[in-house]
Amino acid sequence: MSDTERYDSVVIGGGPAGIFAAYTLARAGTRVLLLEAGGPMLGSLCPRVKVDLNGRLVRASERFRMQCPRCTCLTGLGGAAFHFDTSLGYPSALSRSKIEQSEDGEVRKFSSLERALGSLDGAEQAVREVFEELHRHGLNQHDTSGGPVVADTTSVNSHFDGIDLTVSQSITVDTALTVVESMMEALVEAGGEVRFHTRATRIGTAADPRFVVEAEQTDGTAVTLTADSVVVAVGKLGLPWVRNTIAELGLEHSAAAKVDVGVRLEGDRELLAPLSSQCSNPKLAFLNERGESVRTFCVCAGGRIMQYGFEDAVVLDGQHCLTRPTRRTNFGIVTTVRMPAGQDGTDFALELIRDVAQRGGGRPVACTVEELRAHYRGEPVTPATSLDTSLINYEHAALTECLPRTLVGDVLAMVDRLNAVFPGMIVPGAVVAAPVIERISPQMSLTPDMESSEPGLYFVGDSSAKIIGVTYGAATGTAAGRHIIATRHPVLAGKGR
Ligand SMILES: Cc1cc2nc3c(=O)[nH]c(=O)nc-3n(C[C@H](O)[C@H](O)[C@H](O)COP(=O)(O)OP(=O)(O)OC[C@H]3O[C@@H](n4cnc5c(N)ncnc54)[C@H](O)[C@@H]3O)c2cc1C
Repeated sequence: MSDTERYDSVVIGGGPAGIFAAYTLARAGTRVLLLEAGGPMLGSLCPRVKVDLNGRLVRASERFRMQCPRCTCLTGLGGAAFHFDTSLGYPSALSRSKIEQSEDGEVRKFSSLERALGSLDGAEQAVREVFEELHRHGLNQHDTSGGPVVADTTSVNSHFDGIDLTVSQSITVDTALTVVESMMEALVEAGGEVRFHTRATRIGTAADPRFVVEAEQTDGTAVTLTADSVVVAVGKLGLPWVRNTIAELGLEHSAAAKVDVGVRLEGDRELLAPLSSQCSNPKLAFLNERGESVRTFCVCAGGRIMQYGFEDAVVLDGQHCLTRPTRRTNFGIVTTVRMPAGQDGTDFALELIRDVAQRGGGRPVACTVEELRAHYRGEPVTPATSLDTSLINYEHAALTECLPRTLVGDVLAMVDRLNAVFPGMIVPGAVVAAPVIERISPQMSLTPDMESSEPGLYFVGDSSAKIIGVTYGAATGTAAGRHIIATRHPVLAGKGR
């Protein structure tokens, strides 16, 4: 049994989106509780990613030298990204980095944050304010100078329909720790509360207050909370729970009509240097013959490919290793696959990762570009004796055996375009590994303030399915927090900014 505790708002999940939502609500003077399934940030860092901050932890020499076969450190305050060195998007200006085919066949550029928040100006302002807060809490000012321009612009333009070279800003785990702890101090000082090792299990509706949040602590103790507003910020790994919540509350939504699926490509850092010499995270995109966007994303120069469990399979992501760069670079190549009528994109993506896991015996699958091309064309190939990859615990097999043929064709087309712009950059021995999935949640009906069809219930960050990334997540968390203040506590509006 548990006593019921009452709050103005409960924020579920302490990643960038939840932190910014809770911080906004606390600083305005509302009674907010931030629930985090994991622990405080310092305690939830990977034991192999120890930081040496103000003498609080030593063993910095071990930092990034080792990698776990499968990462289990994506929970805890700070969320998925801040447990590693990270790249923060759009410190100087927001751009329309994505492309799609419009009904008249033209290429249309857009920013997913612009779509989520309703306007480019609003999105730009929101990201600016996120950086202002990050600076206030310890992030250094960004150096906007770019590297030398190595690609011939005409050549890039002739091979890509979308080119976004807007700069990003790096943040190490040490700085992220300072920023997150400082924001939490400010939140608590303003009267907000944070509860760790407490996982929300159910959201129910009532008359007054509107929401009942049931949660469970790690020791099994049940907690019942009530609140006028709830902000869901459970990240990508919270997908199954979000799906249940949508169904249980009957929230307006439609099946995911598009999902981003693909691979990570890894090669020698020096060979791949031209890709990121002008901007650390270039986004180059083209439309395939089906009119779907194929794009590069999340370039990790000197980084690693890492894997983590997702549902009953495994997915890949890129890990930045800023303090101890590796000799390799990896980046994502994803296709925004459009679902045929009646097919649910979430199920498609989950099936894809299960197919890979099945082929890989529960592990990701990797092969060389040369092998991929030969298998795709049905030509004979002598398999490489070993793969030059940072990925550990993978199956060396033909990706054509577990990925849709169209997706493999897109990856090879991206390789060819990149090599056309940067001759010799991707060698036959470069490694391609799968699976990568992004933005695969159902499409909830959300207002530009991230409010669902249930008034007072908000979905922000990765769990909104509208956006991904740290600064975008923080911007949507802030938007939800401000809307709650404006609609439920109008007298406090403007406070704490
Ligand atoms: C390895 C890796 C590298 C990345 N690199 C970058 C990068 O360089 N730049 C970038 O912009 N993005 C990067 N991303 C993506 C970025 O991490 C996410 O887009 C971002 O963290 C999303 O923030 P969020 O707050 O929505 O969710 P998350 O950061 O996923 O946080 C969700 C939080 O909710 C908690 N939680 C989940 N369920 C519950 C529950 N039921 N009750 C209570 N708490 C719960 C989790 O413990 C977690 O702390 C990376 C992701 C990964 C995995």
